[in-house]
Amino acid sequence: MRFARSDLQSEPLPLPSEFGAQERAIEAGPGVAQDALRSFLLESVTQYALTMNVPSEDRTSHLSAHLSFGTISARSVVRATNARADDPFLLAEERASIKLYLRSLAQRDFFLQLSWFHPHTQNEPLQEKMADFTFARAHEGLDAWRGGRTGFPLVDAGIRQLHETGWMHPHVRAVAASFCCFDLGVDWRVGRDEWDRWTIEDDRALATGNWQWVAGVGADMAQYPRIYNPERQRRRFDPTGAYVKRFVPELAQRPLATWGVRDERQLALDLFATAAYPSPILDHEAAARAFLARYRAHLAILPEDARRANR
Ligand SMILES: Cc1cc2nc3c(=O)[nH]c(=O)nc-3n(C[C@H](O)[C@H](O)[C@H](O)COP(=O)(O)OP(=O)(O)OC[C@H]3O[C@@H](n4cnc5c(N)ncnc54)[C@H](O)[C@@H]3O)c2cc1C
Repeated sequence: MRFARSDLQSEPLPLPSEFGAQERAIEAGPGVAQDALRSFLLESVTQYALTMNVPSEDRTSHLSAHLSFGTISARSVVRATNARADDPFLLAEERASIKLYLRSLAQRDFFLQLSWFHPHTQNEPLQEKMADFTFARAHEGLDAWRGGRTGFPLVDAGIRQLHETGWMHPHVRAVAASFCCFDLGVDWRVGRDEWDRWTIEDDRALATGNWQWVAGVGADMAQYPRIYNPERQRRRFDPTGAYVKRFVPELAQRPLATWGVRDERQLALDLFATAAYPSPILDHEAAARAFLARYRAHLAILPEDARRANR
């Protein structure tokens, strides 16, 4: 077989060393997938509702790459999970956690089907009313977001976890993606394509479905986009800073009260810090308010019919 010559340029793929692959070999294959599932079903699945949003616990199943490369099938995960739910000694909360896990798996299926039946959504928003809403393609803070140096510890820890391991905790993804779309006002496609270079899972449909969901342009019943406050999320889901400290070592010695604070106090502390960690690159409240104003103005200019349909 011969391939036609083309002048198309492509970006170089990140090197394995950029994923930290030299220090930590990534284990793969069906045996590894089965072990991960077995160990997750032993206990973590029964705590899923409590721990799924807590990044320092790291107790989600980590099956995404296996599912996307086919080293385990969604059906076998569902079958084994249902069998686990047959345990007569489970508490009601534990049973509810197992159901929630099955719901996560169903979400995967949902996004795969969405992309199959609506292929244009790979590059266009599912919500027609958002088709001509313009996000920016660039922002002076975009490189800081890409590099995990926004000054918002949870966002930066997530991005650095992605660079280091090829995976980011699911809840942190939502917070870091929200920062890109709303704080920076940058297009969800720019964010998605950036992460696509780093994530080991290779599921474009899931990336697109989730980025659209975060950006408030996709499959979602919510009336307004969910704008996460990155510091409030950090205080709620990483209150001791255990997750952040793991990926942002510059903050390990700094008092929690100074994290993500954008004021004179923190600037003064910076002078004494052993390693520089940036002050927040923007004022979250102001950025979120500015975005919402644009969003509201956009909806208001819709034709009356479309507006009624969206009530
Ligand atoms: C902004 C953003 C971008 C994302 N990009 C990708 C991506 O590029 N590729 C990808 O495979 N996943 C993506 N996800 C979904 C999810 O975060 C990842 O699949 C993550 O790796 C799941 O980790 P886990 O296997 O430990 O999850 P668990 O919580 O243990 O869930 C089990 C399985 O359910 C499915 N699942 C869980 N949450 C979701 C979800 N929100 N949407 C769809 N399926 C889900 C996954 O297959 C997952 O492996 C994204 C989520 C967000 C918020």
